[in-house]
Amino acid sequence: MFGRMRRCPQDGNYTLSFRCKVCQSPTVPVHPPRFSPQDRYGRYRRQMRLWTR
Ligand SMILES: [Zn+2]
Repeated sequence: MFGRMRRCPQDGNYTLSFRCKVCQSPTVPVHPPRFSPQDRYGRYRRQMRLWTR
């Protein structure tokens, strides 16, 4: 499981840290698959709804 994987938007490095080890910029969570049957990512879907409003 990579549910806590995060990614640096600047250089695309995958990390578990909240800041990139390379460029020290804040990382963003990797988007989970939309077809996930688990409600574990329900909060992500709510965020997506806000973004696409
Ligand atoms: Zn970086």
